Amino acid sequence: MTECRTCKSQRLYLFLELGDHPLANGFLRADQLAEPEARFPLDVHVCLDCGLIQVADQVPAEYFRHYVYIPSASDVMQEHFARLAEVIRDRLLGAPDALTIDIGCNDGLLLSFLQRDGARTLGIDPASNIAELARERGVEVVNEYFTPELARAVRAEHGPAAVVVTTNTFHHIGDLDPFTLGVAELLADDGVFVVEVPHALELVEQNEFDGVYHEHVSQHTVKSFVDHLRLFGLEVFDVERLDVHGGSMRVFARKSANGQEPGPVVREWLAEEDERGLFRAETYDRFRERVERNRDETLRILAELKQNGRRVAGYGASARGNTLLNYYDIGPDTLEYIVDRNPLKHGLFSPGMHIPVVGTERLEDDPPDDLLLVAWNFADEIMRQLDGFHRRGGRFILPIPEPRIA
Ligand code: ZN
Repeated sequence: MTECRTCKSQRLYLFLELGDHPLANGFLRADQLAEPEARFPLDVHVCLDCGLIQVADQVPAEYFRHYVYIPSASDVMQEHFARLAEVIRDRLLGAPDALTIDIGCNDGLLLSFLQRDGARTLGIDPASNIAELARERGVEVVNEYFTPELARAVRAEHGPAAVVVTTNTFHHIGDLDPFTLGVAELLADDGVFVVEVPHALELVEQNEFDGVYHEHVSQHTVKSFVDHLRLFGLEVFDVERLDVHGGSMRVFARKSANGQEPGPVVREWLAEEDERGLFRAETYDRFRERVERNRDETLRILAELKQNGRRVAGYGASARGNTLLNYYDIGPDTLEYIVDRNPLKHGLFSPGMHIPVVGTERLEDDPPDDLLLVAWNFADEIMRQLDGFHRRGGRFILPIPEPRIA
């Protein structure tokens, strides 16, 4: 990489080399296991000017046509989108016929909550299998990649948007400029752009190296938004902290009367990011040391369980989980299978390590002794659901932020 994806600075610092990885969402069918998998280096850089953590964008765009992450499979995400719909309705939508556009609308969960309240909505998502699910919910979806040209066409047909929202999408995008240009095209003059993404501070301080992979090409700071959006005539005016996905933020931006200084809330965030060292190389050297130590400790725990004759399985066939499994080199010898609630993944195999993915009923039919919570970011929810497993003597191994057994 030669320049920062958001602020265009060339002060990039390479601080973590995770090796060559397959696509983190590239789950395989049994008949694909013998074929070679495409692998790409996962070299992680940080921009010392805006704090954006980034890897090169190497994934063919066509890949996103079939996307298997569905937030509705999680109770936590159901609740999360219900609350985001409230924020949009109560704080941002003035007129009753105001339009909300969700870019990367996935299965339409957020928009379905808004529609229930009578709001006008439109989803945009390139993944055809998922857009179909959204339509089944009664949500209108444009099944295309989001580009400035598409933005202009949508605006001509539906009018300007009071709210453009994008959740869990912005950090997937390699070339952000056309995306942000399109958002600016869609917004009404008094419209608001709402973005939810993981915050880099959480990633760094909680040792979440697994939040970086080829589909998550960026981890944002508030500074990265302020600097990037300014290039497109937008200003960040508010930021909220969120608990989902191991620590995220909700950024609010609007068209700016050129070159305005950020308000007090945003200034506070920028000061905090500076104080926590997000613009200093040493911070990332310490991070790498902690990540390597945690890997060694997790592998030691798993080896000890194996030695004691215990059967271990994984919980959560997530993309970030695959970064962890591939970097740690944990395969089917260690984890007999990975349990996941998303039926689209059942019968498939994890990319790279080829661990079979099965439904939760397997925990009843053929229970392991212990479970590695690959989806450690949903640990509370998972451990609550698996209370019975725990009471029968099953233990949970949590790999991040520090390896521990519960
Ligand atoms: Zn930057």
